Amino acid sequence: MIYFDNSATTFVSDAVKAKINELMEDQLSANPGALHKLGNRAVELYEGIRKETAGLLGAKPEEIFFTSCATESANTAIKGYMSRNKRAGNAVISTRTEHKATLECLEYLTKLGYEIRYVKVGLDGKPVMESLEEELGKGDVALACFTLVNNETGAVLPFADIAKKIKALSPSTVIYLDCVQALGKMQIDLASMGADLCSFSGHKIHSVKGNGVLYVRNGVRIDPLIVGGGQQDGMRSGTQSPVLAGAFLEALKEVSSGIDEAREEVTLINNYLRKELAARGAQILSPDDALPYVLNVSFRGFESETMLHCLEIYDIYVSTVSACSAKQKKVSYVLLEMGVDRKTAANAVRLSFSRHNTMDEAYEFIRHVDDIYEQFLIK
Ligand code: PLP
Repeated sequence: MIYFDNSATTFVSDAVKAKINELMEDQLSANPGALHKLGNRAVELYEGIRKETAGLLGAKPEEIFFTSCATESANTAIKGYMSRNKRAGNAVISTRTEHKATLECLEYLTKLGYEIRYVKVGLDGKPVMESLEEELGKGDVALACFTLVNNETGAVLPFADIAKKIKALSPSTVIYLDCVQALGKMQIDLASMGADLCSFSGHKIHSVKGNGVLYVRNGVRIDPLIVGGGQQDGMRSGTQSPVLAGAFLEALKEVSSGIDEAREEVTLINNYLRKELAARGAQILSPDDALPYVLNVSFRGFESETMLHCLEIYDIYVSTVSACSAKQKKVSYVLLEMGVDRKTAANAVRLSFSRHNTMDEAYEFIRHVDDIYEQFLIK
């Protein structure tokens, strides 16, 4: 099997499986809110996990909250900030290439009467700076929402430039940053980065599904999305799960080491595939400076879904558009927004890698693409 669908989700690593087993011990399974000594042990364990997670992300423990997924983190950050800070402004700035987790929150805000101003995006997948300046210049911007690495193309946001521009033109604007596809692939230091609210997802870094993280910079106030027993400082009610938090931490530990070496290896795979696929008439839609973990390719003569199923015959797994919308048979809104024409976008397939993919898999992939062209292309 060749699994090139790691931006959709990743396989659970052996270390995470072992950690989950360890944390499932009866002695560790008490409610962290319980007053007895088993509860004390559970809360100690949980807070220890929080502290270590914060350390690896360059944050303070009190800035880290465990959620069920990045979608929940995004909902809490975006809706929670706007709900708590009604006087901060009536406008939100973003792009139309965000993940649906963000776009649907913005749609919700529209219904509440907020104005969403979308910054234009270029063929390189990056927000156009003049457009950002123009939208900021209109004033009244409470929140700016961006994604560090686009899940469909791997386009990397020039975040330092963007944060600088926002701070210069609209200093009170708070920044939400989706870091889901960047985690474990780029160095992330929340203390120095300049984002106020960030989301992360466990299942994209070889943890299980059901765990995410929300970062809320000290001093930023947001309303919780989930209310109840007041767990996690009232930010996210519901009995805490040391198992899920511990799984996230274990995965984070693994992907936090050797980031540069892993990236070099994945770059070799990406470069090889770019070259070989282009030689076969495919169009590379990921920008040249994209993170190498994602390669968006438009195949000559094959619609996205047809190519996906042809590859599946050879036990090769890829995506069409982002997994959440893959069943709706839609052309990627991200590619269209970047200015890719509909016909090219209709043939786009996303290959996405993890540090565990190999060059041998890349060679085999190309061999099977040749088989597919030979067998299935209608000439
Ligand atoms: N943001 C990005 C960029 C993603 O790729 C995804 C998942 O596809 C999400 C957010 C949502 O993550 P989760 O599945 O943890 O809710």
